[in-house]
Amino acid sequence: MRRSAAERGPERLRSEVDQVRSAGKLQRSKCRLGRDQERGDADARRDRPRGLSQRDSDRGRDTGRASSDERVADRERGVRPRRDDDDDRKRNETGEVVHAGSVSRTVIHSRIQPIHTGHYTMPADGDRFPGERVVVTAFVIEHPRGVFLFDTGFSPEPRKMIDLYKPVYMRPIEEALRAAGHGITDVKLIANCHFHADHAGGNRHFTRTPIFVQKREVTHARKENDYTHLPHVADFPGAALEEIDGEAEPWPGIRIVPTPGHSPGHQSLVVDTKKGRVVLAGQALNFSSDYARHQYSHELALAGDAHASYPEWIGRFHELDPVRVHFAHDRAIWEREVAESIR
Ligand SMILES: [Zn+2]
Ligand SMILES: [Zn+2]
Repeated sequence: MRRSAAERGPERLRSEVDQVRSAGKLQRSKCRLGRDQERGDADARRDRPRGLSQRDSDRGRDTGRASSDERVADRERGVRPRRDDDDDRKRNETGEVVHAGSVSRTVIHSRIQPIHTGHYTMPADGDRFPGERVVVTAFVIEHPRGVFLFDTGFSPEPRKMIDLYKPVYMRPIEEALRAAGHGITDVKLIANCHFHADHAGGNRHFTRTPIFVQKREVTHARKENDYTHLPHVADFPGAALEEIDGEAEPWPGIRIVPTPGHSPGHQSLVVDTKKGRVVLAGQALNFSSDYARHQYSHELALAGDAHASYPEWIGRFHELDPVRVHFAHDRAIWEREVAESIR
């Protein structure tokens, strides 16, 4: 997976990388760096071998940053969350936030384009949203090293499943990619949130393109084959599965985080962008309101109050502190700013 410096085009890469330089001596007692710590996190991640869990090092992260826990406590005290225009930050000529620290840090930002890969229809006699069309969204991530694709759209198999959720609109992945300005061969890496046929059905079009998947998802798909069609998802000629176990960072600033539940090996993608860290949560939950609900339960748990249960990975997202969270089957998006504006 590691490409040579020549292949990467270091000049181009360097030009697209955001350099964050220091402006003075860090005074942690007086200044909270807020979101700037993400840059430090990124540095630490870059130096870590791919595939290792990053929890431990994140736990020991710089306490100069206002943690989510602190922000919860602040909200209780009525303290306004710190924003980009806070006076303990300075901006350079490109508008990037500059550290009041003494080290030079580099972060690689990607651009995310959600792409519509079709919809399915909830059964007319079902309990949940009978007859409702449910969208299926994949994500193009434009990184200096190339296009990373998160999910690949539908497979017309297994037939039984397609019949259950008909009418199904399956937009060819090639067409969806083209709408985002890319072609099949631009895609250098893939990850599927899980191996069901509405998220991984287009894998067959990407021969010899590494596909990152949790080992336990592969095991599960090979055992319980009801909702997927392995010849389109994993067993097509030229399939290049990259089986991982836990977190991984295929490219700097693109991190895979396990979010089991909907399927045993479900995983989400965490992407560094200019606007902050963005989570592409696939079908970790069906709707963004589900996330808001669980996130509130987690806040209650942190405050020591009675709360409902929530998936364990909610705590991991809390540590990662994203500015937004997208879901594959929902066009509504969770935004931290919105959640924090409620007092
Ligand atoms: Zn599924
Ligand atoms: Zn799905």
